[in-house]
Amino acid sequence: MSTEEDCKIIHSGTNSRTIVSHVSEEGIEALKNWIKSGHEGKSAAFSVETLSRVRLDKSPDFINMSSPDSVHFSFYSKCLAKRNPYAMYLQSLRLGFCSLDMKGAISLLNDCKDVIPIAKLLYIALNRCAGNEVLDAFNTFKRENKCFTDVDIMAKTLIDHISDLEPKRFGSYAELFHYEDYPDCWVIHEFYNEYNGERCSHCVYFFLFRDILLLS
Ligand SMILES: [Zn+2]
Repeated sequence: MSTEEDCKIIHSGTNSRTIVSHVSEEGIEALKNWIKSGHEGKSAAFSVETLSRVRLDKSPDFINMSSPDSVHFSFYSKCLAKRNPYAMYLQSLRLGFCSLDMKGAISLLNDCKDVIPIAKLLYIALNRCAGNEVLDAFNTFKRENKCFTDVDIMAKTLIDHISDLEPKRFGSYAELFHYEDYPDCWVIHEFYNEYNGERCSHCVYFFLFRDILLLS
């Protein structure tokens, strides 16, 4: 069903909030049409149900919207106030890499990590930076994300998200960082002349945590 058809239902029916909440899966861009459609659409778009669920991550402005300069900052702040997991993930990135408030970042991630896989990955990585292994969360993540390609893409997305925030890059968390030697597979990569950053399901995490430390 198109957004236009949905809008007609909103004006005629009583389930507007449920419908908008469903459309919120499509992100901010889809919501803009609802806000323009009139008073009822607007109140539905700003309903608690929508603010707490809308897929902010689908917007091209996702990382930038946590900056006060963004046109989406006000909407983002409303979502954050309603504990929207995508807003919480974004705020944790800002706290962890711009304000260097690791405790604040981990606390927010703790509340959204079971909804967004990339938030769980960041939760594990930031805990690593804090010297905590959080093995239960790590084992759960590995059990839930068995496909190497998916994890590799998620790791690259996470690095992109952090890089877009212009992090400090001082290795600010180096003192507490949980160090480990090179993973066992390093010898195998060397045997196959894989010197160009090839990763496998064993070392993808090792290099991700190290890169995150370097970006902090
Ligand atoms: Zn490897």
